[in-house]
Amino acid sequence: MKKVVIVTGASRGIGRKIAIELAKEDYIVVANYNKSEEQAQKLKQENDNIEIYKADVSKREEVRKMIEFVINKYKKIDVVINNAGISESSLFIDATDSIWEKMINNNLYSAYCVTQEALPIMLHRKKGCIINISSVWGMVGGACETIYSIAKAGMDGMTKALAKELGPSNIRVNSIAPGIIDTDMNKNLTEEEINRIKEEIPLERIGKTSDIAKCIKWLIEDEYTTGQIISINGGWVIV
Ligand code: NAP
Repeated sequence: MKKVVIVTGASRGIGRKIAIELAKEDYIVVANYNKSEEQAQKLKQENDNIEIYKADVSKREEVRKMIEFVINKYKKIDVVINNAGISESSLFIDATDSIWEKMINNNLYSAYCVTQEALPIMLHRKKGCIINISSVWGMVGGACETIYSIAKAGMDGMTKALAKELGPSNIRVNSIAPGIIDTDMNKNLTEEEINRIKEEIPLERIGKTSDIAKCIKWLIEDEYTTGQIISINGGWVIV
């Protein structure tokens, strides 16, 4: 049977492209979304092999129901891609507890919840692949995006620790840490700001969602990579 892949936050941007590319390759894709109902419906209509599921992945109960739905329907989960996320720019000094909760819940708690709920079936089958979409800011820190950076560094910490814990169960855990990718997340940047960033990138362009999808495909089929933070950033950040 085809591999069953859950992609969180797949109504737009990187997650949407991942879902489309995997569906073309004969995976069964469960594309999770929250607010973008119309885009999600369109994704399903335009692509065979894509099922959509509405859940706010920052809420345990909604995640539990989503995982139950997938297991009832397909009897297994081969791959979880924790892609859902939000970003917001502000000075750390101005941050409030509600901003903290929003950023941590949507970016980090969501990945913790989805992974935890999907794990029993992976452990039972002694097989699985978990991919966390973190960020270069988790690696090197982004000014005015401190809480986002904390959440993404947390995801990378989870990747490393879980890779050790789950390796003996044949479950691989990796992060993909994108640089700047052309999606709604960066629509607030002016053309001038984008051009300034491009000048700092050795490959002289910002990333495309397809750059991330290509790596996802490879990582799913690979068998010996685990605990790694793979940063796709055009050379913008080299550590
Ligand atoms: P995007 O275009 O803004 O899309 C975000 C997606 O996440 C949407 O599909 C949204 O779904 C979903 N989402 C957010 N909160 C959710 C929740 N609680 N439950 C379910 N879905 C939720 O962003 P993107 O650029 O594709 O970002 C995807 C991931 O890559 C994020 O984790 C982001 O932090 C990371 N990343 C992006 C960049 C970049 O430059 N774009 C760089 C580094 C890392 P709805 O609209 O349906 O709510």
